[in-house]
Amino acid sequence: MNIQYVKGVGASRAALLKKLGIETVEDAVRFYPRGYLDFANCTPIRDLEPGETQCVRAFVGCPVSKARIRQGMTIFKTVVADETGTMHVTLFNNPYLAERLQEGKTFLFYGKVAVVHGSFEMTAPLVEDDTDEAAFLPVYPLTAGLSNKQMQKIIRGAMSIWQETANEDLLPDEIRQQNGLCHSLFALQRVHFPKSWEDIAIARRRLIFEELFVLQCGMAALRNQEHIRSEFPMKTEAAADFLESLPFRLTGAQQRAVEDCLCDLRGEDVMNRLVQGDVGSGKTVVAAALLFVAAKNGLQSALMAPTEILARQHYETLQKLFGDRVRVRLLTGGVGAAEKREIRAKLKSGEIDVLVGTHALLTENVAFSSLALVVTDEQHRFGVRQRAALTQKGKAPHVLVMSATPIPRTLSLIIYGDLDVSVIDELPQGRKPIATYSVDSGYHARVYTFVKKLIDQGSQAYIVCPMVEEGESELLAATAYAKTLSEQEFAAYRVGLLHGKMKPKEKTAVMEAFAAGEIQILVATTVIEVGVDVPNAAVMVIENAERFGLSQLHQLRGRVGRGEQQSYCILISDAENDAARERLQVMTKTNDGFKIADADLRLRGPGDFFGSRQHGLPELKIADLLEDMETLRQAKEAAAEVLREDPILTEERHAPLRKAVQTLFSKNGGAALN
Ligand code: ADP
Ligand code: MG
Repeated sequence: MNIQYVKGVGASRAALLKKLGIETVEDAVRFYPRGYLDFANCTPIRDLEPGETQCVRAFVGCPVSKARIRQGMTIFKTVVADETGTMHVTLFNNPYLAERLQEGKTFLFYGKVAVVHGSFEMTAPLVEDDTDEAAFLPVYPLTAGLSNKQMQKIIRGAMSIWQETANEDLLPDEIRQQNGLCHSLFALQRVHFPKSWEDIAIARRRLIFEELFVLQCGMAALRNQEHIRSEFPMKTEAAADFLESLPFRLTGAQQRAVEDCLCDLRGEDVMNRLVQGDVGSGKTVVAAALLFVAAKNGLQSALMAPTEILARQHYETLQKLFGDRVRVRLLTGGVGAAEKREIRAKLKSGEIDVLVGTHALLTENVAFSSLALVVTDEQHRFGVRQRAALTQKGKAPHVLVMSATPIPRTLSLIIYGDLDVSVIDELPQGRKPIATYSVDSGYHARVYTFVKKLIDQGSQAYIVCPMVEEGESELLAATAYAKTLSEQEFAAYRVGLLHGKMKPKEKTAVMEAFAAGEIQILVATTVIEVGVDVPNAAVMVIENAERFGLSQLHQLRGRVGRGEQQSYCILISDAENDAARERLQVMTKTNDGFKIADADLRLRGPGDFFGSRQHGLPELKIADLLEDMETLRQAKEAAAEVLREDPILTEERHAPLRKAVQTLFSKNGGAALN
């Protein structure tokens, strides 16, 4: 039901609400407060904690000053005080509120506290009159032009419509009782209009459980649904020809992964498999074996990578491995219009066996004549939804997903719950662990000397640029840095530069020159983070290493140690804070991606870990996959119970649940259940 049914919501307000993701009455009902203003528990100014969101009861100590800093931006400032201290308050473009803040009157200020020039400051706080009416006030995420008061009213309106109409509980009664949860309507009322913290706790428990339950049902139903009959059962003997033609023997783990996949391809059901293996474990060749087999069955495949550089690299690898036995083409943004037309035509007529590209292949308007296999590399950049969208391109093709492991095992089970998994837990023979050192910038000269020594022995090097601060130009910083290096330290060497703002053609040229050994030192921003494979590179120097997360450092380090020579990773950092130091220590102690992922989680905390949203799960509104691990376990059990009887949620009694699954998975496009 459209949000405009709510009293007081017209077209313009609806447009504002849309910015917050609210388009229907249900969206509003499910728009949970980000916190609560607890009037009974204000913090004395003296005891404020910088960085925390807190509530302060204080009187306005001086008239509000006004400064117009530029067109369309006016700043209002005042100082407020209680018996224990003073706090600065800053407002932006809010003349109406500034007017209300009369000297001497007392208000409640709610917001994040900072310390600026030695005094407390709250910027753009939520301000409420000091009445005792409501002990609890929900605080909602807002957008410019919409106040918390207005939002409360809208939610109240939405709730009253909701109560009258669609309040069927999606949790089956048994499940609700077994887990000691309150009814849905009760929970929603309490989360929006609580009277005590206890109310909030009861409501949140129910809503968190519900969200995780819906998520688990969705993943499981997706998986059950994908047990669809294969339209493309294949003969897989050709794999042996391919494997024999390789310049190396597969590791045991690679062999097992290939065999798992071939077994899927031969079988009756469509393949939905994840191949998980640390950086450098040799996932590409596993994929290549399958692409080869598909081609030998007269079927087409697509191989998708997260970046153009990586797509091109895969393309070149496949050409090398296949020779003229398989017809491979590359389709990326860098490909000219005429060639694109030619590729499209040949795809349609079946004259191309394997198409390589970025995940833009999904949106590119390409039609295959017989798409039977889709491989996506470095899957943590692709979401569940994209996977689902893919499957819908042809007649349910086989799907292989390849991923380095930036997520701990416990979570990969949930995130990849819809896939079968093969793990490559063995590195090719002869690999030496990468020796990793963490040094401060006082060591620059020694690091450069070391790099020169390795290059003189015939190796190549990566130097990852200092990360730019927000607002600085990556382009300028990287260019300047490369220039200094090539003119000073490495004047006698061939230095190249790679950064994200380069045109695809330029990037390709640089990568090719590096792969061919024409460039000896590649100065790069993090565009090289994922997947790039130049086995002759033996040293990776990372500037400002403290600014990278652990998984990212591990990915970067994985660019070396791919050949037989001893490789090195040198982390340069002057950071003094404990968390940063510990991250760097972890890197020097282990090369194991799983251990690093676990440490990452422990050090960064769940919020940040999932903040980047690289995992591709549907966005959760209230639950936190890590904080709520125990609830997740219960929800998983409950979901399994429901799905045992109704594998893809088609029964009438599960209609509300099915609808909730669809809503959760369809936000941001892409369908979950057919
Ligand atoms: P990743 O798993 O990180 O994608 P790649 O597929 O890029 O790893 O492989 C890393 C390097 O190891 C490549 O140069 C590849 O040719 C090589 N390689 C893969 N498998 C083997 C093997 N069994 N023996 C020796 N080298 C291998
Ligand atoms: Mg790879």
